[in-house]
Amino acid sequence: MSTPGRLAGKVALITGGARGQGAAEALRFTSEGATVVISDVLDADGELTAKEIGDTCTYVHHDVTKESDWSEVVTRLVEQHGHLDVLVNNAGIFPAGGVLDTSLADYERVIGVNQVGVFLGMQAGARVMVRQRSGSIVNISSIAGMQGSAGFIGYCASKWAVRGMTKAAAKELAPFGIRVNSVHPGIIDTPMLETFDAINEGIREGLRQRIPLGRNASADEVANLVLYLASDESSYSSGAEFVVDGGWMA
Ligand code: NAD
Repeated sequence: MSTPGRLAGKVALITGGARGQGAAEALRFTSEGATVVISDVLDADGELTAKEIGDTCTYVHHDVTKESDWSEVVTRLVEQHGHLDVLVNNAGIFPAGGVLDTSLADYERVIGVNQVGVFLGMQAGARVMVRQRSGSIVNISSIAGMQGSAGFIGYCASKWAVRGMTKAAAKELAPFGIRVNSVHPGIIDTPMLETFDAINEGIREGLRQRIPLGRNASADEVANLVLYLASDESSYSSGAEFVVDGGWMA
């Protein structure tokens, strides 16, 4: 007899799941028995990712900055699957720009996706989870949410905000059996790193040399941590920061 998966019977929503870390998490979650809805604005990539993962994964178009999208996506998910057990607020953008050269519009754009998107997600997800009296919310921050990051003022601000919002929500939602944690990846090999190439050709190698473990992570290595937080194995962790950075923050 095979052992049940670590997420058996659970329904998860992963934003920004068309590619990168979100796609790796969707694959890992379904391999452990979850039913997963991935959402993104990259429809062709999202459809393909869901098809490659299989029957237990579906894709929906969803702009995390839009409150109406959140309402539609979560309502439809609950109608189709009955419950929402895990929400991974993973969608994000990584635009370069320092304090002296970032326009207000560019600043507001990154705050809109990375910070407001997580706020709207926690709100929409928690409304369902409060009724269920259970749930796990995993918010993807960054090591840029734990230290300063020169040349990335908006990104840094948004990721510090995610870290703070996680703690506030964790305390508010704990009485309802809902856990909220933040994940802080270091340098992860996904399409997001192309931002560095546009700044300077050698930047990736320079960053790699600063990582104590001597290499970037794969998206799968973040997915393993997110799986743990999504599962009941992490039942006593809430409001906590989980770093996956090859020793960068040590
Ligand atoms: P990625 O660019 O491959 O994936 C991000 C996904 O978010 C993309 O599919 C993108 O289309 C989607 N997205 C962007 N704006 C959206 C919107 N408005 N609505 C819905 N989806 C939207 O990069 P990734 O590395 O997989 O990033 C995942 C998360 O990890 C992000 O929050 C990112 O900030 C964080 N992170 C990444 C790294 C890294 O080194 N790659 C390091 C630290 C934190």
